[in-house]
Amino acid sequence: MKIAVVGTGYVGLVAGACFAENGNEVICVDKDPAKVRMLQKGKIPIYEPGLEEMVKRNHAEKRLSFTTALAKGVQQAQIIFIAVGTPTGEDGSADLQHVLAVARDLAKAMNGYKVVVNKSTVPVGTAAKVRDVIRRETTHPFSVVSNPEFLKQGAAIDDFMKPDRVVVGAEDPRSAELMKELYSPFTRTGAPIMMMDCASAELCKYAANAMLATRISFMNEVSNVCEAVGANVDQVRHAVASDRRIGPSFLFPGVGYGGSCFPKDVKAMVRFAEEKDYEFQILNAVEAVNESQKKRLIAKMEKHFGSLKGKRIAVWGLAFKPKTDDMREAPAVPLIQGLLAAGASVHAYDPEAMKVAKGIFGSKIHYAENAYAALTGADALAIVTEWSEFREPDYGRMRKLMRSPVIFDGRNIYNPESLRSQGFTYISMGRP
Ligand code: NAD
Repeated sequence: MKIAVVGTGYVGLVAGACFAENGNEVICVDKDPAKVRMLQKGKIPIYEPGLEEMVKRNHAEKRLSFTTALAKGVQQAQIIFIAVGTPTGEDGSADLQHVLAVARDLAKAMNGYKVVVNKSTVPVGTAAKVRDVIRRETTHPFSVVSNPEFLKQGAAIDDFMKPDRVVVGAEDPRSAELMKELYSPFTRTGAPIMMMDCASAELCKYAANAMLATRISFMNEVSNVCEAVGANVDQVRHAVASDRRIGPSFLFPGVGYGGSCFPKDVKAMVRFAEEKDYEFQILNAVEAVNESQKKRLIAKMEKHFGSLKGKRIAVWGLAFKPKTDDMREAPAVPLIQGLLAAGASVHAYDPEAMKVAKGIFGSKIHYAENAYAALTGADALAIVTEWSEFREPDYGRMRKLMRSPVIFDGRNIYNPESLRSQGFTYISMGRP
């Protein structure tokens, strides 16, 4: 099939590469000329495991191309995916300006029947808005489909190639059949293609993300109660997770959720419910808990040291989660800002997010070449992202490098007893 994907970010580029991998002819469109030039040279602007090889291979085999010219993409394709950003607007709602701008521009370029697919995460009612915008600009026939994306950064290729399910909101048989055909190679393992109306499809994505965010905030509160009553959250979590009705995923306490999706999608869901006079009470609490959770690690540091003025703090992990370079809404950002405001100096390390961090903090913090270099002369180490390479460090080397062997672990990656037996003062989340 001939496909255009508009927006080559974490979602659009992965979707484009994976559709090409299954033999489709894909043209990826982005308005950012620097990004497109990079992609044309076989370089990818983001870190996502396995993506660069897949992009290079499909580009070389001429199934995947890149352009800034939307009209070219639209005219060559039968199915056009919109995968541009939908950031939080001033009032907390999803800002649809990029989605609607693409809809308007692609309508002007149409040269026959097209299926326009919303892959961006968009509030209920957006398919109808996109339909109206296109109708105003063209006399060609078209269908608008809603196809929310559930991939996880860090495992995006696997998630896209082998999804748990594909959700498609399609309201006419022609576009429904085309979508089923497009996705059939991705669902050979038996994952369902769930066909539904556009409003339900749009809501699925928010409900799923809001549920996951709720589990995280819930477990963070359980962890905080563990600290208050002297229980151990690891033991509580294992016992709770072994109930088959609950299961083990997304029950890890930490420093709060971040990333480009959970914070914005929780806010947007509250907002669009509110527009229909419904107050989504749980989600208001989920967000409030997350905001306060992000302050907990620094509060533990302040409690331990009295004052952080003049302290040298090593920070391991800057990305909002492992296996990505994405720092959008990353808990490391407010933590570092808090440390700087308290008069501490920060020596940070992340395996992939250093370049992004330099764009955020500039010369305000120090950037270490590796995890150990960050520890030289440190009064304490704060662990913010649970990258695999932090899990089994050389403790002897760490102790020698640090001025004082104190670890604040926001992700509970070590065993408290073994760390203490190695001579560390070890403070983690929800564990005595
Ligand atoms: P992103 O910011 O990484 O990428 C968006 C891209 O769109 C950018 O490259 C930008 O230059 C381009 N763009 C913006 N306006 C454009 C226009 N008018 N024409 C052409 N290109 C344009 O965003 P993302 O993380 O890929 O997210 C995209 C959407 O997918 C969002 O709605 C997001 O909520 C949703 N989503 C994201 C994830 C994720 O893990 N990142 C997962 C599922 C769904």
